Parts: sequence; C-alpha cells; structure tokens
Amino acid sequence: MKLMQRLLILLLLLPFTAWAQVEVNGVRMWPAPDNTRLVFDITGPVEHALFTLEGPNRVVIDIKNTRLIENLSKLEYAKSLIKSIRSAPRNGGDLRVVLDLRKQVRPKSFVLRPNKEYGHRLVIDLSQEIRKGKARAENRITKSISNKDHRDVVIAVDAGHGGEDPGASGPSGLKEKTIVLSIAHKLKRLIDKEPGMRAVLIRDGDYYVGLKDRVKKARNSRADMFVSIHADAFHNPRARGSSVFTLSQSGASSEHAQLIAEKENAADLIGGVSLDDKDDLLKSVLLDLSQTATNEASMDVGANVLKGLKRVGKVHKSRVEQAGFRVLKSPDIPSILVETAFISNPAEERKLRTATHQNALADAIAKGVKTYFRDNPPPGTVLAMVNRKHVIARGETLTIIARNYSTNLSALREFNNIRGDKLRVGEVLVIPPG
Ligand SMILES: [Zn+2]
Repeated sequence: MKLMQRLLILLLLLPFTAWAQVEVNGVRMWPAPDNTRLVFDITGPVEHALFTLEGPNRVVIDIKNTRLIENLSKLEYAKSLIKSIRSAPRNGGDLRVVLDLRKQVRPKSFVLRPNKEYGHRLVIDLSQEIRKGKARAENRITKSISNKDHRDVVIAVDAGHGGEDPGASGPSGLKEKTIVLSIAHKLKRLIDKEPGMRAVLIRDGDYYVGLKDRVKKARNSRADMFVSIHADAFHNPRARGSSVFTLSQSGASSEHAQLIAEKENAADLIGGVSLDDKDDLLKSVLLDLSQTATNEASMDVGANVLKGLKRVGKVHKSRVEQAGFRVLKSPDIPSILVETAFISNPAEERKLRTATHQNALADAIAKGVKTYFRDNPPPGTVLAMVNRKHVIARGETLTIIARNYSTNLSALREFNNIRGDKLRVGEVLVIPPG
C-alpha cells in the first residue's frame, strides 16, 4: 500500500460543545478466534476518529475532549490480535490510544448508548484480514472431502450471549453466558459421539457473536439444524422450568414468549453490534417462501427436545412455544431455542451450576435432536443410508428382529428407547447401523 495512513471512520455524534472532559473509566477485551473486540467505558458520548498505520501494524484512535483514568496494562493480550496498548494526551484535552497489532486487521469502531448493563461505550472491533478468494477455496475443499462418501448431519450448537453480553444472571451471580457455553460443550460431545452426526460450536469462548453472524456461521458449516441454548430470567424468582421455542412468523404464542424474544434480541445492543445491516427488508421477502417448511421441522425437533426435558425436570410450558427470535430466522435450517432453566430461580441456579444437571440437559437436547434425524435423515447423509426401519409383525421378538438385521439387541433397545420386552404390532422400529 502506497499510503501509510488511511482515515477510516470519523463519527460526529454531538456538536463539540461539551467542555467537561469525558473520562475513559473502564476497558474490556474479548478475543475471539478471528477477531478481537475492545470496549472502552466512557462517561459520556464522544467524537472519535480511527485510522491504521503499517510497518509495524497499528490502529490509532483519537478521542476528542477525553482523558484516560483507567489502567490499560491490566489487560491480558496473549490470545488477542493486540500486542500492547499505549495512550497519551493530545492537543491539550484530547486522548490518543494506539493499539500495537500482531498482524494486519480490518478495524471498525462505533459507540453504544447506555442500557441496563452498561453506560456509554466506545467499541473497537478488529477482524483478521481474510481475502475472499481464499475463504471460498477452503469451502470448496471441505465440501469435496465431506462429499466423498455420505456426509454427516451437522448440528450448529449456539451458546447464547458471550463477551460483552453476559445474558441473564442468577441471584448468586451465575452468568447465563458461562453456563450455556458449558452446556453447549457437553451437547457437542454427545452429538459427536453419535455415528453420522457432528456438532459445530457457534461460539467457543467468552466473546460475543452478533445474532446475524450466528446464523451465517451455521450456514457456512452447512448445518442441518440450529440449536440455541439460553437460561431464562424473570422478575418473579419462583418462575421455573425449561422452555423450547421455534420461530413464529406472526406474533408470539404467549406473552412470556414475546418478553423473552425481546430480551434475547436485545442482546445485539448489549453485546455491541454496529448498525450496518440494511438488507433486512429485501431478504424478508425471500425468507417467507422457504420458512414454512423449515418451521414444521423446527416444531418437530422442538417437540422431541421438550419431551426429553420433561424427563429431566419441570418444564415451564408443556408445549413448544413460538416467538420472533432473530437467531431462529434461517429460511432453510430448522432452528430451536432452548431456555434450559430460570437462572433467576435460586434452586434452578444452584442446579445449573452442577455438572450433573448440565449433562442431563445436554443429554435431553441431544436425544431429541438424534431422534428427529433418525426419523427424518436428510438425503445424502450417513444417517439416511444406515437408518433402516422395521414394522413389527405378530409373533416377532426383539431378539428375532435383531438377528434378522444382524444388529445387536442392546443397540436395538437403546435406539428405540425400549426397556421391557413388550412390543406392539404395527409399531415402527429404527434399526441401528450394522
Ligand atoms: Zn439468553
């Protein structure tokens, strides 16, 4: 690049009339695999400019009429794209912050207005430069490998919130973002254990992913199913139980569903996403067309998962609810959102902390998803190839059926959730892979 200096963004938020200096009184950093987010807490709105320098790579942020009262050296840089941060006063009352980088980045900055969680914030997003051509080539490679034989069914496991957005929190301080990530890891392990199935985590650490990006990530992994995991909160501490949601196209099925959808959708405001998505209207037309079929599949999976959750403990509503969640808006990927429990309920918060309960929840979700895909294996998948079905005829026993399909008896029992020896004529059994 010939020019060493590029002016990227200049935001004018307020006419420069405020004389009292704004203070930077907090700083947080959220490193993700391919980006790093830096958040400055500021005592009021600011005017700022951001530009990059090369050799060595730096990002410079000039903030008008501001001073730093926070110590930047306490940040943990090891996993981030930032090597170190320096700062100095400038032009009398201004502040210059310089980020020394490990590599070239694409920076973006924006300010967020106060909300329930935080005050004014200045957010700097640094993304790793990825050339589009390269990303596409990589996609093609993975595709050809997975197509060599029959492909796995892919489940996108989405732990809600993260990073700047803690989600709900319990009376003793347990954070939703922490607990749902832990359940997501357990769910991934259970799904990966299943032959013909594989899970991908939408986030794998304590950082925020925008709601639209979550859907995009699922699509890039060619997911067959999207499962978003959350923990609910309510002002009444006695509210309890799990809920399962799917997308509604018109209105939420209950007031509770409406409330939750509003809260979860607001995550972008708390987690911090800039307002540069303008293509919503255009997309919505295309979206409606393919959404109907997807919604039916979502309801099916949702019902299966809810059935499993009923065995783990209380459910909040005995039916799958519908609401307008942004993360569920994939026209072609069946998607559900599971509110695992009420973290605001002291007893449920206590349970959520335990590995036993987290495992039980993950297991219930995994079973529901597995059952659905065994019954409805997408064409071209390993499951579609191995899933044979058998209609029970008079006089047949499990032993005879197992022998006929050269499968083993305990697998046959496990696959069909059969405990005793009673079989019903006409019932359909799924035959486990040989
Ligand atoms: Zn949530």
